[in-house]
Amino acid sequence: MTTLLFKDARLMDPELHLDTPGDLLVADGLVEAVGQGLTAPEGARVVDCRGAVLAPGLVDLHVHFRDPGQTHKETLETGCRAAAAGGFTSVVTMANTKPAIDTPEAVRDCLERSKGLSCRVHPAAAVTVGLGGRELTDFQALARAGAVAFTDDGLTVGDGALFFEAMTRAAALGLPISVHCEAPGFEGDRSMNRGDISAELGLEGTPALAEELMIQRDLLLAEKSGAHVHIQHVSTALGVEMIAEAKALGTHVTAEAAPHHMALDETAVLKYGTNAKMSPPLRTPEDVEAVCTGLMTGVLDVVATDHAPHTPEEKARGMAEAPNGVIGLETSLAVCLEELCHERGFPLMALLERMSAAPRHMFHLPPVHLRHGSVADLVLFDPERKRVVNASKFQSKGRNCPFDGWRLRGAVLMTVLGGREVYERDS
Ligand SMILES: [Zn+2]
Repeated sequence: MTTLLFKDARLMDPELHLDTPGDLLVADGLVEAVGQGLTAPEGARVVDCRGAVLAPGLVDLHVHFRDPGQTHKETLETGCRAAAAGGFTSVVTMANTKPAIDTPEAVRDCLERSKGLSCRVHPAAAVTVGLGGRELTDFQALARAGAVAFTDDGLTVGDGALFFEAMTRAAALGLPISVHCEAPGFEGDRSMNRGDISAELGLEGTPALAEELMIQRDLLLAEKSGAHVHIQHVSTALGVEMIAEAKALGTHVTAEAAPHHMALDETAVLKYGTNAKMSPPLRTPEDVEAVCTGLMTGVLDVVATDHAPHTPEEKARGMAEAPNGVIGLETSLAVCLEELCHERGFPLMALLERMSAAPRHMFHLPPVHLRHGSVADLVLFDPERKRVVNASKFQSKGRNCPFDGWRLRGAVLMTVLGGREVYERDS
């Protein structure tokens, strides 16, 4: 393993309130020293970091790696490479693989097969057997096997009583239950937001109410069960408001915002077609503002991509038929830098908190710090460097990216995992 000396970086660690110019030495997979004017030991690789930020690696609590079952779309390996290219050193994978991650064996298989890849994979396990919504999985056994959370993401558990029982069990284990909120019967054709644009296109669409109803139910169930409920990909202004109210009441709720919901509104469908189709859908400009504000004020705790690769053939089926989902790992940091920091004046330190410290803390992942003895999971990025997004060059197998061709400020230069250089930008 290389010894690495990062020279003249802007060292940023939100939890340590550290924002200072300096050097950082990595040896044997750990942060060996942090300071000024560090000298390179014999044989060390020296990385000139002028103009760049060195920070704890990013964390994404919501990705779909399609492995097992749909490895033509993504594998654990390509997903991890995409994560590393985006500056992520830990991801939480969703359970809707084929078969679903609903047994301890499936959890162990995921952990076993992701060893040595370019990102740490923390599997979430299914709430119900086969994501069928009828029978709860064995939470205790799944947790013992290494599941970090429970989720039927992609689907809502419609049976409220069953989901209340699931929350009670998750609470007993002290693990979060991560929810995709969409009220059965209200989902329409799941093509896009129901509104003027869907009407124009002759599509039924999915109303904001579908999401809001279910957020309300799950907040109430969380309050009554004492579970930690994590609301995924909040896309509506009212959703943000309800979460703020629940937090004020002391409900143990956390929530995520996806980069696409902060950068795009429903009109993006007219431009990008099915590459702007996901669930929940892109909403109105007012909703976009509310999600951005929600993230900046901390009502929404973390950025999560909902990275969801599909094949070009599937995405060619048109708005009504194509599957929901867009990829996001390789653009998340730059989109957030652009939309939140550059456009709206959100402090970079606060963004790093939402993209690394907060998600680690919320899902009980091991801490990472820029200090002696910490595991060396690091990202080096230039927050100002302009680049044009080129989806054809992505490490992900997915190409379904609405930001293809966008000019964004913010480029990941290097990602280090346990002291290993797992990604390096070539220009
Ligand atoms: Zn979802």
